[in-house]
Amino acid sequence: MNKIGIYYAYWTHDWDADFVPYCAKVAGLGFDVLEVNSGTVAHMSSAERLTLKQAAADAGIELTSCIGLSKEYDIASAESAVREKGIQFLKQQAEALSETGIYELGGIIYSSWPGKMPFGDTDKRPYWDRSVASMRQAIKTAEDCGVLFHMEVVNRFEQYMMNTAAEAVQYVEEVGSDHCKVLLDTFHMNIEEDSFTEAVRTAGKHLGHFHLGENNRRAPGRGNLPWQEIFDATREIGFEGSIVMEPFLMPGGEVGRDISVYRDLKGDLDLDEEARRACTFVRNVLNQN
Ligand code: MN
Repeated sequence: MNKIGIYYAYWTHDWDADFVPYCAKVAGLGFDVLEVNSGTVAHMSSAERLTLKQAAADAGIELTSCIGLSKEYDIASAESAVREKGIQFLKQQAEALSETGIYELGGIIYSSWPGKMPFGDTDKRPYWDRSVASMRQAIKTAEDCGVLFHMEVVNRFEQYMMNTAAEAVQYVEEVGSDHCKVLLDTFHMNIEEDSFTEAVRTAGKHLGHFHLGENNRRAPGRGNLPWQEIFDATREIGFEGSIVMEPFLMPGGEVGRDISVYRDLKGDLDLDEEARRACTFVRNVLNQN
């Protein structure tokens, strides 16, 4: 049975937030998982991390995390000093996360977000090779901390390194660690993949985490994605990881800017009730055969 989760930034305009109140909130809306921003966790004190860990335990939920690396931490950079900073950053994330009882970090952690291939370059292989070499170093700390690193496949407008499940599988096989997994996101798959089913099959045993978003980043059940096909595929491959929705409805702030939310998708919806509906919707489709 997959755990169902939601990303905290559905409710916020800024990336930094106090995650503690969201633990009880999402549990009350029917979720099993709250996904948080690992950068915020890494900036917290040890006492604050323990408070968050306890809040999740009290609410009976699990915490997962994600992040997109900024340019200064790009582990694919041509500059070795930048790569070294990125490797240290990832190691520090893994240590801070495990202290908080968080054992999954997904996102664009193999390069930077957003990330265009530098002007004049047409071959991404040198960036790819540097990223794999850097990841092989960073993943050792993830292994020591018991943290899984999930490589999130995103669409071409957000990153150039990997846009399909097939590319991500190649990457994690090159890294060669059982702590390096693939993260597929239906919003991005809808743009890049030929077939949802084939993409999930391609990820197969490498699939570690799964993000849900409609074609327009609404919550599941409000757009035109084929949810039955998608969940039939995750069931077919025996996927047992967490399934986390990432709806983004509100323009404004850092979140609205970085996610490119340029119109009000919330309208008259109550955010909590919409999240509760979407959680029920996902469980119902998942449990249908
Ligand atoms: Mn995602």
